[in-house]
Amino acid sequence: AQSYALKKAPSTVIPVGISIKAAKEKYGLDTLYKLASNENPYGVSPKALEAMAAALNDCHLYPDSTRDTVLKNKLAAKHDMLPENIMITCGAANALAFAGEAFIKPGNECIITSPAYPPYYYIVYKNNGTIVDIPSRKDDMKLDTEAVLNAVTDKTRLVFVCNPNNPTSTCLSGDELYSFIQKFPKDVIVVVDEAYIDFTDDPENTTMVSRLKDQPNMVVVRTFSKLYGMAGIRMGYALACPEIIGYMNKAMAARSLNTVGIEGAIAALDDEEFRLKTVNSNRDERTYLTDEFTALGYRVYESQANFIYVDFGCSCHDLYFALLPYGVMIRGDFPYARISIGTHIQNETLVNAVKDLREKNE
Ligand code: PMP
Repeated sequence: AQSYALKKAPSTVIPVGISIKAAKEKYGLDTLYKLASNENPYGVSPKALEAMAAALNDCHLYPDSTRDTVLKNKLAAKHDMLPENIMITCGAANALAFAGEAFIKPGNECIITSPAYPPYYYIVYKNNGTIVDIPSRKDDMKLDTEAVLNAVTDKTRLVFVCNPNNPTSTCLSGDELYSFIQKFPKDVIVVVDEAYIDFTDDPENTTMVSRLKDQPNMVVVRTFSKLYGMAGIRMGYALACPEIIGYMNKAMAARSLNTVGIEGAIAALDDEEFRLKTVNSNRDERTYLTDEFTALGYRVYESQANFIYVDFGCSCHDLYFALLPYGVMIRGDFPYARISIGTHIQNETLVNAVKDLREKNE
């Protein structure tokens, strides 16, 4: 395992690209499909939107904390847990940050499996931990459980596991992941990031939430950004044993939840119609994109998420820029191209653009 103490902010991801506005101006586009940030292409949950619009009327008042309790109770019922097992946060991003703040002390080793969601690196860096970076398996881009376990030392304090993983889109089954997690020493905190769990074929058996009762060193992180289309509202939560939640709450120095987000989240949980539309359309479109790119001879890693990870055999930076004139923005700063699954018209536009680029390059 490669282990290194960071002396300066990590540059694991090279920022690439231009703003949507600038791209539209540069290429004279009316529409630019953003397939770059794994957002919900069907918009916001209509039920959440209605509740949030109504909540705006109360924005002169401080948030009503009894509504946090309503949300916590709802989440507790959904996950068959207790409210004490839940911490509501501004996006999953904050839940991850609070876990880092609560548990990483200077010099602690923290395992990240790469390629990874970049904030994991920043969180370890911010808390003066030492990053231990374990590459995913080369053949299928799945988490290399053996290599991760081999990297555990008596200094290991925290492990980030993202399932399905961003950016590789790959996923371990619930059984595989749980037997891996059980092998960690009990003083190692395992943070399981389930931002994309709803897009898996079998969320109930893939999630680690149902295993929390037997695994007191585990934290599971969820978000309202993807499934319910609330990325701009910043709502997420963590699930763990009350002791861990207690430490994480301590790390949250100031209350930062807002009225609109809380009301939106409460309403979103009842929006079964939107949830089903999102999940089913995503599954169909994931198959469409996977089949199209596979037929063109590109390697598409097996996705269980709302994005795909594709080796186009060329520089992702170049592809990012080459696709912009066609009105499509992908993510080009990971080793391979990460493409959010859009609506059918968006995906078709992307596929046609790739085909056109191939013809031009032949
Ligand atoms: N974890 C992963 C793996 C993500 O990809 C993202 C967002 N892209 C987050 C967490 C953060 O989600 P949120 O919008 O809830 O902060």
